[in-house]
Formats: sequence, C-alpha cells, structure tokens
Amino acid sequence: MNTLNLADWQIDQRWPAAVIAGHARYAAQGRDLASPIDGAVLGTLDYASAAELSEAISAAQAAFRAWRTVPAPRRGELVRRIGELVRQRKPALAQLVTLETGKIVSEAEGEVQEWIDLCDYAVGLSRQLYGLTIASERAEHRLSEQWLPLGAVAVISAFNFPVAVWAWNAMLALVCGDSVLWKPSEKTPLSALAAVRIVLDAMVDCAEAPPALVQLLNGSTEVGQQLAADPRLPLVSATGSVAMGRQLAPVVAARLGRSLLELGGNNAAIVGPSADLELAVRAIVFAAAGTCGQRCTTLRRLIVHRDVIDTLLPRLVAAYRSLMVGDPRNRATLVGPLINEAAWSAMQAALAEAVLEGGTLLAGGTRVVDGVPAGGVYVYPALVRMPMQGGIVHEETFAPILYVLVYDTLDEAIALNNAVEQGLSSALFTRDLLDAERFLGPAGSDCGLANINTGTSGAEIGGAFGGEKATGGGRESGSDSWRAYMRRATQTINYGEALPLAQGVRFGD
Ligand code: NAD
Repeated sequence: MNTLNLADWQIDQRWPAAVIAGHARYAAQGRDLASPIDGAVLGTLDYASAAELSEAISAAQAAFRAWRTVPAPRRGELVRRIGELVRQRKPALAQLVTLETGKIVSEAEGEVQEWIDLCDYAVGLSRQLYGLTIASERAEHRLSEQWLPLGAVAVISAFNFPVAVWAWNAMLALVCGDSVLWKPSEKTPLSALAAVRIVLDAMVDCAEAPPALVQLLNGSTEVGQQLAADPRLPLVSATGSVAMGRQLAPVVAARLGRSLLELGGNNAAIVGPSADLELAVRAIVFAAAGTCGQRCTTLRRLIVHRDVIDTLLPRLVAAYRSLMVGDPRNRATLVGPLINEAAWSAMQAALAEAVLEGGTLLAGGTRVVDGVPAGGVYVYPALVRMPMQGGIVHEETFAPILYVLVYDTLDEAIALNNAVEQGLSSALFTRDLLDAERFLGPAGSDCGLANINTGTSGAEIGGAFGGEKATGGGRESGSDSWRAYMRRATQTINYGEALPLAQGVRFGD
C-alpha cells in the first residue's frame, strides 16, 4: 500500500462510493486503484449504487430549489471562497493529480491553476448574467429575455483532466444557480474526492449553500448511463471519448434532455512554407508529446508543406530524441507515463497498423525500460511519416503518436485538416497573412479551436472550449458558455390598457 497521506483531505485509503449532502457513503466491496507512475495501490474505490444515485438526485433537486433564489452575486461569494481555498492547497492538489494521472508536476499545477482561474472568472460572471431588452412591435409593451437557473446538473468527466474539466462546468453552474452532481472517471477519483473536500470546506463559510449543492458519485459506465437516463437532470455535461458520446447522447435525447458533449479530437497542425520553423518545432513537440499524448487537444496529425518538410523533420526527430521520459514527480521530466497497459496496447496496435498502411517510424514508439519506475507504462513518443491520410490516421489513439503528411497547396492542407470525423482543435504555422485568414475563415478549419502560430493544446479559460462534428458541439469555460447552464425565458410585459396582438392579428374587436 502506498504511504500517501490523505489525512489533510479527510480521506483514508477506503474511498467512498458517493458524497451525498456532505456525507461519505461506502459500499460493501471496493476496487483497488493503482498509480500509473509505479503501479502502487493508492486506495480502494467503492461504486455508488442505483439507490444512492437516486437519493443524490433528489437531494440535488432540493438544493437547487434553495440555491436558485440566492442572488447570483452572493452565489459568486461561494465560488470566491472556493478559489481562495484552491489557491492555498494548489501544490497538494497538484500532487494528487500527478499521482493518479501521471501528469508532470508543472502540468498538474497548471490544471489546478485552471480551477483557480475559473473561480475568478465565475465570480465576475456572477454579476454579468445578462439578458437582452428587445424593441417590442407593440405600444406600451416591453420585450426582454431573462436567464434563469436550470436545475440539477450532472457532470461526467474523463481521466485526463480530473480537476479542470469539472471546474469548467461546476464553477459556472454554481454561479448560474444550479446544483451539481459529479461522476468523475473511475480511473481518477482521488482528485475528485479532494476537490469536493475543498468545496465542502468553502460551504462552511456560506450559510446560504445547501449541503447537497455539490455531490459526488463514483462509478463507471453504469453510473454514467443512469445519470443520462434520469429525467430529473435537465443537463448532462459529459467529457470523454466519441464512443462514450455515441452511447450517452441518445439516452439523454430519448427523454428530451440537454447534453453538453466534449468528446475526442484528432487534431492537426499545418506547417506552411513561410513558418518560423524553430517556433513550430517547440509548439509541435509540446502539443504532440506533452501529457504523454493524453489530451483531447493533443496534436495527432502534422501536415507539412513540401518545401519545408526536409528541413523540419530532422529538427523534429532531434527534439523527440531529446525528450526526457520518466517519473512525472521529477521536475526535469517532460513526458510521464501512459495511464495503463491498455493504452500501451492501443499505441502498439496503432503503430503496427500505420506501418501496414505504408508508414515509416521516424522516432520513438518503443517502451522505456531503464531509469523509470517499475510498474508504470513509459513510452517514447512516436513520430510516423505516412504516405497519405486514411485508415489509422483517422482515429484518435489516446497515446503520443504524431502522423506526418506532406501537402502542396493550402486548399489541400485544409481539406486534410477537415477530413476526419472529429473537429476539436487545429493550428497553422505561417507568416503569410492571407493564408492565416483563409485558415480562420469560412472555408478554413472546421474545428471549434483554430490557432495561428501556436499549438493545438493549452487553451485559455477565457475562450469557449469545445469542438464540432463528432467532438460533440459542446462549449465550456469562457465566453458565453455559461448560457448552457441556464434557461432563457423570453418575457413580455404589457403596461398599457389595450391588448394589441402581435403581427396585427385582430380577434373579436
Ligand atoms: P471515456 O470515454 O472512457 O470515459 C469518460 C467518462 O465517461 C468516464 O467518467 C466514464 O466512466 C464515462 N462513461 C464511459 N462510457 C459511458 C457511457 N456509455 N455512458 C455514460 N458514461 C460513460 O474517456 P477517458 O478514457 O476517460 O478520456 C479520454 C477521452 O476523453 C479521449 O477521447 C479524449 O479526447 C476525451 N476528452 C475530451 C475532452 C474535451 O473537452 N473535448 C477533454 C478531455 C478528454
């Protein structure tokens, strides 16, 4: 058993199946959960039962009914307090993120920083949940729209951002007046338990927050499916693979609920003939190899102009060969482990398929055995030159594999960028203003995120985050994403004595 001290978080090594109205619930049986760093058992996880799930939803509904009438700026006070506590506990929480995801320390700290930034953002937003006033066509009428709290919101999150994805959803949902039910990934429940601990501690200082405002339900697909099917949840925000979205979305749609989907990506970067290659190499390596290729925005396809490919590739190969792969707790490490053996099997299968399809392995693709903790899955990120795009290149393999393709015209490169079913993130490296604008314009990238001279990953919280097509169409975090957590009421007030009807309709007068 790992000697991890969780006492500060009031968590022991038997982890609860659920936290309902502030109280931990335990099941009869648990499953051991190991760290991807070295395979050491971190704790034993229980899964929530159907009865606990139903109880939590009823409690979340009651919490919503109380919370929705608290003025939004006062709801923001709770989020401000949460932000203060996350600031204080940033290193400790980042340590948990590293332990259960294998993310390097700097990226884990960045993930916690995202939660802090989201708190600041949501506090400001709590005074800006604006509606419109619209010119009425009728005399002595006022037409306006008001944004109102939505209900109990379910958040299902993926393993690779165990804190940030939930924070994008939950911090906005809280200021919008909703209660939150969170089902974290069964691979990363520990940071979720710690995050809920922080929220419960913050609620102590907020008398208006009902105990069931934020609840946690541990479990896997079954718990996710039950949340999707329950008509008491007007919104299910789900982050994960395209396969998960394909199963979840019809269940939510069958009850005419709303789903907010943040699914897989197969992101490309185009390197144009005028690109600053030094900058491009740095951006490409971070986007493709960072987080061991386990970001939704990881760069998976590199589309390089024929004029620069022979200059770019040797630099890229050299950069790949210099990457330090190893224990993510070591500050010098750039690439930590894969999440588990299954991810390594998927990586090997994809590389074998790529070679069958005519690909040439330029760097990496093998397992690291020396100088890394035993019990973890450490790999050298792979760089593969492909003769064309098709087959395996169309798939998101959640591991560090970068496929390299060559192009001659920008139209061709944009067509390649858009030819996959996912539509999350994209980038163009160029110093040509016309090319940049074409890439960003209506006939350019079809992705939810389109960047110039910076990589596909590492988005800021201020923008709306999400993607098109099979990525699911959802938007979270900044801009006007808050609207997904509210309902819009269009309101007409007649302050006159007459009853004029819209469109000039006359009825009995
Ligand atoms: P996953 O699809 O295996 O699981 C994600 C979550 O969904 C987990 O909590 C899981 O228990 C739950 N789940 C799985 N099947 C379900 C079902 N049928 N019904 C309801 N819930 C279900 O994904 P993962 O391996 O944890 O994460 C990696 C994937 O997530 C990648 O495809 C990645 O691109 C994607 N991702 C997307 C974003 C984004 O914002 N677009 C962010 C992070 C990760």
